[in-house]
Amino acid sequence: MRQIKEREEPSELTYLRLLKPRMHLTAEDKRRYWNLLKGFEGEKQYDRLLRDKLSSDCLVINDLLLEHNQTVFQIDSLLIFQKIIYLVDVKNFEGDFYTNEQRWNTVNGKEIKNPLLQLQRSESSFRQLLQSLKLDYPVNAQLVFINPEFYLYNASFHLPAVFPNQLYRFMKSLNDTPANISEKQEHLARHLVSRHLTKSPFTRVPDYDYHQLKRGIVCPVCFAFLSNRQNKWICHECGMKEKSEVAVLRTVN
Ligand SMILES: [Zn+2]
Repeated sequence: MRQIKEREEPSELTYLRLLKPRMHLTAEDKRRYWNLLKGFEGEKQYDRLLRDKLSSDCLVINDLLLEHNQTVFQIDSLLIFQKIIYLVDVKNFEGDFYTNEQRWNTVNGKEIKNPLLQLQRSESSFRQLLQSLKLDYPVNAQLVFINPEFYLYNASFHLPAVFPNQLYRFMKSLNDTPANISEKQEHLARHLVSRHLTKSPFTRVPDYDYHQLKRGIVCPVCFAFLSNRQNKWICHECGMKEKSEVAVLRTVN
């Protein structure tokens, strides 16, 4: 595989990660932080799987935010083959869930956002975008459940999903898909990346006041505050040591 665009940390996650040790986050912000973190970790796990198991010459574009017909839509991962494009939405759900097509619930009965609706919306918008470019690639949209601790009761045979115990077979079927990439696919990939929106309209910045934030240097590993000793910053929680100028520049950044 050839990666055309790397995955970046969602800016909302960056905000919350940096603010968390320095201020009191609301319960909702904390929930949002853990959800974003979990989602991002799932995506990185998916990226590792591709790196390790995808030997095909296909083009991989990660984390695309596109706009077409006044609709903004996000694609976790796009795999461009010779004659087909896979549109992947990575889910890091953990635990037992059940579905009756329309609704998705945890086994405790709590309804969650139906991930299939989101996938279908992205798929439809992406198809329209291809049509506007006069391209007629078939699009195969899939939910990829990356967490081995996930189970979905009552899943339909027709659900476009790859479950944890099917991941390796999914990689194998991708490796068996023709991927003689030519200028046509390369051009499409470059075009899509050029249309990537760097600022998401969905990003919510938590309400904070710079002057009320707790000052100091935070450990990059465990987020505890570091103390300074002999030109080094030391973490008393995890033992991490960092050179003074490195820690200062990292924090300024
Ligand atoms: Zn630490």
